[in-house]
Amino acid sequence: MDADAIQAPAALMARLKKLGLARKSDLVLHLPLRYEDETRVDRIATAADGCPAQFEVTVLEVSVLFRPRRQLVARVADESGEMALRFLNFYASQIRQFERARDERLKLRVFGEVRQGFLGAEMVHPRYRPIREGEPLSESLTPVYPATAGLSQAILRKRIAAALSEADLSDPLDEAWRRARGFPPFGEAVRLLHAPPPGTPEDALQSRGHPAWRRIKFDELLAQQLSLRRAYLSRRRLGAPRIAPAGALSRRLIGSLPFSLTAAQRRVAAEISRDLAQPYPMQRLLQGDVGSGKTIVAALAACQAIEAGYQAAFMAPTEILAEQHCFKLRAWLEPLGVEVAWLAGSQKSAARRAALKQAAETARLVVGTHALIQEGVDFARLGLAIVDEQHRFGVAQRLELRRKGGRGAEPPHQLMMSATPIPRTLAMSYYADLDVSVLDELPPGRSPVRTRLISEARRGEVIERIRGAAGEGRQAYWVCPLIEESEKLQCRTAIETHAALSQELSGLRVGLAHGRLKAEEKAATMAAFVAGEIDVLVATTVIEVGVDVPNASLMVIEHAERFGLSQLHQLRGRVGRGRDASVCALLYQTPLSAAARERLKIIFGNTDGFEIARQDLRLRGPGEFVGSRQSGLPLLRYADLETDADLIEPAREMAERLLREAPAHAERHLARWLGRREELLKA
Ligand code: ADP
Ligand code: MG
Repeated sequence: MDADAIQAPAALMARLKKLGLARKSDLVLHLPLRYEDETRVDRIATAADGCPAQFEVTVLEVSVLFRPRRQLVARVADESGEMALRFLNFYASQIRQFERARDERLKLRVFGEVRQGFLGAEMVHPRYRPIREGEPLSESLTPVYPATAGLSQAILRKRIAAALSEADLSDPLDEAWRRARGFPPFGEAVRLLHAPPPGTPEDALQSRGHPAWRRIKFDELLAQQLSLRRAYLSRRRLGAPRIAPAGALSRRLIGSLPFSLTAAQRRVAAEISRDLAQPYPMQRLLQGDVGSGKTIVAALAACQAIEAGYQAAFMAPTEILAEQHCFKLRAWLEPLGVEVAWLAGSQKSAARRAALKQAAETARLVVGTHALIQEGVDFARLGLAIVDEQHRFGVAQRLELRRKGGRGAEPPHQLMMSATPIPRTLAMSYYADLDVSVLDELPPGRSPVRTRLISEARRGEVIERIRGAAGEGRQAYWVCPLIEESEKLQCRTAIETHAALSQELSGLRVGLAHGRLKAEEKAATMAAFVAGEIDVLVATTVIEVGVDVPNASLMVIEHAERFGLSQLHQLRGRVGRGRDASVCALLYQTPLSAAARERLKIIFGNTDGFEIARQDLRLRGPGEFVGSRQSGLPLLRYADLETDADLIEPAREMAERLLREAPAHAERHLARWLGRREELLKA
């Protein structure tokens, strides 16, 4: 039997499970949300409004009132003054309890938050219990745990205290290293946090800056690093095609470009080129802000694979984007004699058959959507898989592309790209299983986008601006409101907006692109927009990623307050790609919520995607960023990527060291923190 399993009646087990508590080690790591100070007795007369306090009182009067609603009110007093205890939900037994205390002049100890109400001081739903004369006060702060219905603090405290004496509290860190960083031993840290001894500084406990908290946060980050680094190392043990460094094909591609590469592009291309030459699969994430020029870097990687006799696959999350890539890659590579195949879900069966045959035989580069990873798609000799906008794909889909290396063949190298910049601390923690390259430089000659915040009430002026711009041969995007719940509703809104704008902008050519259009229609619309045959493109967020039309220099986003920060940044990145000064008008509906106001202010005041991402992380936490990485990877419970950023690097170092020198310690630590979830991470 598992010695770490909690033994309890089934009903209690079920409630513990709700909190994710199945093992004694889970209880040990179920740490207090906060603490209450029952180590001293306060005086009613001097109690501060809104603060938790403890009093020792006698009961003067007990009554049940019916107005404004049924409630039990007990008037109580200490030597300094009187106050009311108010209970809106109560049992008959509680009335009797207070009456008995009144009649027998028993002392009660009450704990709760004091409010200075209409009739003087009061407490609503305080904790209380009768005490004996001279009963000692509690010696340590009282922990308050995350709880759930039917599971009281008292039961949790009892179970946790038991677990602390039964569970394995061994320490994976060696003493010298631990001391050097001022960390207490693990056992000492958890004991202190569950029952802080008298004299423990309360502020450091509540703010979680106490060394015991720091130790726990470090351990949590260590577990995260261990599991991700282990996955990374085990993938490194797989074989992969060794692809000779870039040669003539890459040079010819570079030579044919109308621009020269930025220093950042050259640096990142070299990093990728080195990876491809290794005998194990590359697992690299290429991040770069919108417009930083990731596509050409990917194309250069593809050239290296192609020249070495392998195929490359390039997968993008939407058909509009994949098509644009295909168009661009064909223009770059076909003149160099590279056969590029196109594979998408919308293809008619004859075209699809031809594309499948190309992939299996002659094509050197295959570009497409999810269609690339479907059954029946076989590659002749896949050496490199490129995934654009990787966060749009699930883990399973990326694994699927890796499997396309061919039966029994070595897995291909993987290059993942993302235009949603990931803040450094996040990349170092949640993305520790990848190597990360950053394109931190935009190609020269971009004109910065001016952002305007405009109330919906001034929509008319915006429309006039568009008319004026169109008169000068410029093009505009009009992005329809995001409707989270329903793609269908969103498309309907787009259709209605298109109809309305066609009227309001009569004489201009207004196009429409949304997710429910047939693929050919969408492609035809995009082609017309690229060719300048459409003045205003009304669109849903289908244009959020990748779309690249340099002549479009105006963007209007309706109901901008509904969008997330990174989404607004991505959308705004669609303009500012040409020589004209670009404007992004964010139309908002009043009144604005405080959160929406803050988001719009950030997007208004910042153009750097990394800074915006950092603010986004601060506002919304890491969940939003790592959403599609969920492969059972739990979010951090205690460590905070901002306040505890200094712990990430040492956690990473220690993880490498434990995996190398003390794998048994590493295993134990992972089991303690991740338990059964760890199994999922091996996928
Ligand atoms: P993203 O990183 O957003 O995917 P793209 O690869 O679509 O960016 O590049 C944006 C635009 O910049 C494209 O039109 C591309 O051809 C162009 N571009 C890329 N690199 C450079 C460069 N070094 N100099 C000038 N233009 C470039
Ligand atoms: Mg791109």
